[in-house]
Amino acid sequence: MTGTFYVTTPIYYPNDKPHIGHAYTTIMADVLARWHRLLGDDVFFLTGTDEHGLKLQRAAEKAGKDPKAFVDEMALFFKKYWSLLNIGYSRFIRTTDEDHVETVKKALTKIYKKGLIYKGVYRGWYCTSCEKFYGEGEYLEKNGQRFCPIHLKPLEWVEEETYFLKLSIYTEKILRLLESKDIVYPREYAREIISKLRKEGLKDLSITRPKNRVYWGVEAPWDPNHTIYVWVDALLNYLTGIGWG
Ligand SMILES: [Zn+2]
Repeated sequence: MTGTFYVTTPIYYPNDKPHIGHAYTTIMADVLARWHRLLGDDVFFLTGTDEHGLKLQRAAEKAGKDPKAFVDEMALFFKKYWSLLNIGYSRFIRTTDEDHVETVKKALTKIYKKGLIYKGVYRGWYCTSCEKFYGEGEYLEKNGQRFCPIHLKPLEWVEEETYFLKLSIYTEKILRLLESKDIVYPREYAREIISKLRKEGLKDLSITRPKNRVYWGVEAPWDPNHTIYVWVDALLNYLTGIGWG
């Protein structure tokens, strides 16, 4: 094999201590990393913690702690557990790591300068546990009330200023990629995405939160009153991990 074999777990939400599900995924990645090392491959194995966002802000508040102190403490639990399981990761990344915060700012600045981000208002039914808005057909309805399909908790109606990423203009490009290249497998998942994209296309994505509601995040480089939505921040960790930026 040429190049480095790169394997990563999802990075974990440290709102609580790790459980058996975290261990399962991490051991799977470790097995894969060890196998490739046996084959003589150069291996980079990434794991870590996804430390920003409203859910952690609230978990810290509930624990009566500053969010940074709270995640510092929780990240240690993850490291301790992986050491008990003898997990041979190459890097334990934390989204509060300085180099990751720089990656997020650099990536978003690049996108902003291309004119792909604009200001708007987001209105919708919001689940604070998912940190996600739910549209019609996505939430559950009972006695005129709307509930999160995952947490089964009542949704809150939220209207707020946000910045959107012009994701909708990429529908065709992503369709062409998925149809011409084998980049998502098992293949049935690629087909599932293709059919969803053909039917619904992509919607522009809300990528910031007002800082007065969600202060625990990476500040938007172009507007200090906004923080970057935790999912956008978190997923970029896979780039930070391989030294992008
Ligand atoms: Zn939810």
